[in-house]
Amino acid sequence: MRILVTGGAGFIGSCFVRMLLGPDDRDGRPAPDAVTVLDALTYAGNRRNLAPVAADPRLAFVHGDIRDRERVGALLDGHDAVVHFAAESHVDRSIASAAAFVSTNVLGTQTLLDAALARPGLTFLHVSTDEVYGSVSHDSWTEDEPLRPNSPYAASKAASDLLALAYHRTHGLDVRVTRCSNNYGPYQFPEKVIPLFTTRLMDGGSVPLYGDGRNVRDWLHVEDHCRALLRVLTEGRPGRVYNIGGGTELTNRQLTERLLAACGADWDRVEWVADRLGHDLRYSVDSGRIRSELDWTPRHSFDEGLAHTVAWYRDNRSWWEPLTTRAALR
Ligand code: NAD
Repeated sequence: MRILVTGGAGFIGSCFVRMLLGPDDRDGRPAPDAVTVLDALTYAGNRRNLAPVAADPRLAFVHGDIRDRERVGALLDGHDAVVHFAAESHVDRSIASAAAFVSTNVLGTQTLLDAALARPGLTFLHVSTDEVYGSVSHDSWTEDEPLRPNSPYAASKAASDLLALAYHRTHGLDVRVTRCSNNYGPYQFPEKVIPLFTTRLMDGGSVPLYGDGRNVRDWLHVEDHCRALLRVLTEGRPGRVYNIGGGTELTNRQLTERLLAACGADWDRVEWVADRLGHDLRYSVDSGRIRSELDWTPRHSFDEGLAHTVAWYRDNRSWWEPLTTRAALR
């Protein structure tokens, strides 16, 4: 299989590429014949994320934009599948300014889908998010739940998610959609809560906790997400949506408690700040479908995965320090 990975220099996309080409057993799924990464290298993209597999002759890196119709059309030739990660992904940035989110997430996805139509037999795996469902006070969303996104980020992802499904229904394109909960793990850009808190605590600084800290998120290790994506790519059904969740729901207060403990810090390092605008209270996905149909289950427990992640940031200061300085996150 020859796979085009958009956004493959970002946090999750690079983990997927490292899994495809690295020593991981991929749960017995075969290694691909070729992997092409298409990435615009925005502030969130980093070629160093691909360093462990950079010398692999099966990997090609293309510095380009998913909105570039000609480029995308030419690139798709010779590929059997697209795994589409490329996106603007930070909710706070979408609240400050939504234009880039609509442009990349909606128009960029539509550009890729149009190019895919000209390649019969191609599989298009669209990586969506649980945030498209909006907030849920009790129980968990199944894939049949209507989408009620609240942030501009989530709305742009919902638009691209529905566009992808529309290309399946209208044109018969082999589209598969995944909606995953919050990821954590190594190589995550340090503006997101776990690496932001970890790196600030390691530097002796304070950490900002939104509102009253009651917001609940479900956490999944990025490697478990990537293993789920490979199953959907190889064994999923065209036109089907798969929720992916870790089953570890924590309030932000509980998450902060664990990060403080992991970094040997106290609550006096926490700065309570005004809540995020429109902050969804709780996300919760029912991932029964992917567990029963594709026999997927997470390997990492949250406690073990978090300890490993904090250790990775402790050992890889040279990876994150230039990023926090450039993005003024310190
Ligand atoms: P990220 O911000 O770390 O990476 C995004 C990548 O896309 C970067 O490498 C960036 O350079 C690239 N990119 C951005 N605009 C581009 C463009 N116009 N053309 C080409 N490349 C472009 O994001 P992430 O956390 O790795 O998320 C990847 C995908 O997974 C996103 O679609 C996101 O919505 C989805 N997702 C993320 C999470 C999470 O917890 N991080 C959870 C569920 C789903």
